[in-house]
Amino acid sequence: MPVDLKNSVHELIEQRRQDVVELTRDLIKIPTVNPPGENYAPCAEFIGDRLRKSGFDVEYIRAEGVPGDSDKYPRMNVVARRQGSAPGPCVHFNGHIDVVETGAGWTVDPFAAEVRQGKVFGRGACDMKGGIAAAIIAVEALIEAVPDLPGVLEISGTADEESGGFGGVAYLAERGWFSKPRVDHVIIPEPLNVDRVCIGHRGVWWAEIETHGRIAHGSMPFFGDCAVRHMSALLRLFETELYPALASRVTEMPVVPDGARTSTMNINSIHGGQEEGNDGLPSPCVPDSCRTIIDRRFLIEEDLSEVKSEVRALLDRLSTERDGFRYTMRDLFEVIPSMTDKNAPVVQATAAAIKSVIGREATIVCSPGTYDQKHIDRIGKLKDCIAYGPGIVDLAHQPDEYVEIDDLVTSAKVMASAAYSLLTSDQ
Ligand SMILES: [Zn+2]
Repeated sequence: MPVDLKNSVHELIEQRRQDVVELTRDLIKIPTVNPPGENYAPCAEFIGDRLRKSGFDVEYIRAEGVPGDSDKYPRMNVVARRQGSAPGPCVHFNGHIDVVETGAGWTVDPFAAEVRQGKVFGRGACDMKGGIAAAIIAVEALIEAVPDLPGVLEISGTADEESGGFGGVAYLAERGWFSKPRVDHVIIPEPLNVDRVCIGHRGVWWAEIETHGRIAHGSMPFFGDCAVRHMSALLRLFETELYPALASRVTEMPVVPDGARTSTMNINSIHGGQEEGNDGLPSPCVPDSCRTIIDRRFLIEEDLSEVKSEVRALLDRLSTERDGFRYTMRDLFEVIPSMTDKNAPVVQATAAAIKSVIGREATIVCSPGTYDQKHIDRIGKLKDCIAYGPGIVDLAHQPDEYVEIDDLVTSAKVMASAAYSLLTSDQ
């Protein structure tokens, strides 16, 4: 970006400092908690109304019929598009409008969007209404500074990212909204911090494993077969064999934080025997079922079918070694790892913009968890996609979530500069 232009875009963004704060606050004040997916329509309309005033064509797309979609909780998405003065590539900013539940431990009202000490507080402040606001301010300032900007700018607000993105980016990607020739470059303003470019994420496999037993009187457990003890045998193998094996596998992907450079598995839940929560004492029974849900995060170097068979091999071994061991395993969810080439245009343009705006080298990272890039990569077949946005990812989903106002402004400058260079360079 020429220096004069850079200065004027930066100045226009600085002038919008209050605007980006108010925009972030307005978005936080629409509680789009998912599940169940509240207030998607008003939030999408708020974004659409704003961008229509800035010269965008706005479309609303409801992901009708996807899980969770109903007239009460419509899976509403908004896509705003601005055709430039001359043909050229399309740069798309995609933000999810949903937020997770508030949970306990807040010292501020999660939906009042309080401003204190240079920060905006609230559920979704960093993940990722601050990012959406910064992207909107970035494109508005860029359009004002360069009215004859070539190419196409798009901004979307999409549903359900927190629950897998099936009513949002996946739905749109299946219908061509995230593919060439419509879109060329995608920036997702997730809270990866102002000096980091996130090029991808690890894979995910969730499964439910159930061990089976036989009910009997608890005073004579030898007449039954305890499903919880069978599960404990599996947990023992996890501890002695699976976890050491996972910890020994280190990826070449630049995943942050460091602990996520290895393969990991969380035991999400475990339950055996009678339901808790009833009044009174339980009755004496040997549990005939124990269920666990595992959350396995795997590396780009690992193969999903091998990830699954590694767990199945432990279960099969117990079936032969342990009397009465029976199990069932059910897949719940899976995501293949995604990684954009470090030399891809959107990575290079954003890294250069970080250098130019902040004055230090960008760090190229990958995310420990997944985000909507997976659908843009796998369904949209679009490889030029990154996450870049304001906020600290560690604060996501936590009580007293916040975003720094300085970061909103800085990231808007970076996004404007990256978009400019992608739109004006010869592709
Ligand atoms: Zn997010």
